[in-house]
Amino acid sequence: MPEGHTLHRLARLHQKYYGKRPVRVSSPQGRFPAALVDGRVLTRAEAYGKHLFHVYAPDAIVHVHLGLYGTFTDAPLPPTLPVGQVRMRMVGETHWTDLRGPTRCEVLNAAERAELLARLGPDPLRRNADPAAAYTRITRSKLPVAALLMEQKVLAGVGNVYRAELLFRHRVNPRTLGTSVTEAQWSAMWTDLVGLMKDGVKKGRIDTVRDEHLPHVTGRAPRVDRHGGEVYVYRRTDQPCLICGTPVRKAELAARNLYWCPTCQA
Ligand SMILES: [Zn+2]
Repeated sequence: MPEGHTLHRLARLHQKYYGKRPVRVSSPQGRFPAALVDGRVLTRAEAYGKHLFHVYAPDAIVHVHLGLYGTFTDAPLPPTLPVGQVRMRMVGETHWTDLRGPTRCEVLNAAERAELLARLGPDPLRRNADPAAAYTRITRSKLPVAALLMEQKVLAGVGNVYRAELLFRHRVNPRTLGTSVTEAQWSAMWTDLVGLMKDGVKKGRIDTVRDEHLPHVTGRAPRVDRHGGEVYVYRRTDQPCLICGTPVRKAELAARNLYWCPTCQA
């Protein structure tokens, strides 16, 4: 599933292609009430965690959650005939964009949007995000920190890759209970997460390996994975830890795969 940096990139892209101008919006598949926003000016596109919002007016906000299978594709004009199940098509002055397979694509009003945002924890990519709100939720829970980091009501936008890598970089055992996470630990993790996710927005991929452990420094082969970036533990099961050489472990936690180094994160 795309993590928060992907949604923030999409928001920037849509702002650039469509912001401040009228947009033709349609639903070739017919499953989205496009008439509610068609022809209106897109005030702004923005992301909050894994949620994307196209704000046309206070009573006309398109909300998209990509889920596991949703994708946006875009190209310069002119648009081609829709291929496959296109939920929403946007046509602007220079580009057109198709959305396929999202979990949610709906029109909300400001109150409905506020209700949705109230259920989310702070998003590290938003300027006014409050790390203390996340810490309060973490320390009140006896769930493992690895599970808490993935809960959108604790933190908005963090997925499996950032969660595994953040815990590794701070040498935190993924099974540490929320109640045992110290304020100093959380403060360092939050600052790090903000930096990592900003880097993700810039590059469009998740890189978490510090300079001294990069392939050209240590002489190891670069990572080959469809996710692209250089990481310490994510999907590196049984491969040697980049710091201590111990094979990376994998286990299932809350129906998602968790990766960690049993030595560095003892
Ligand atoms: Zn290690």
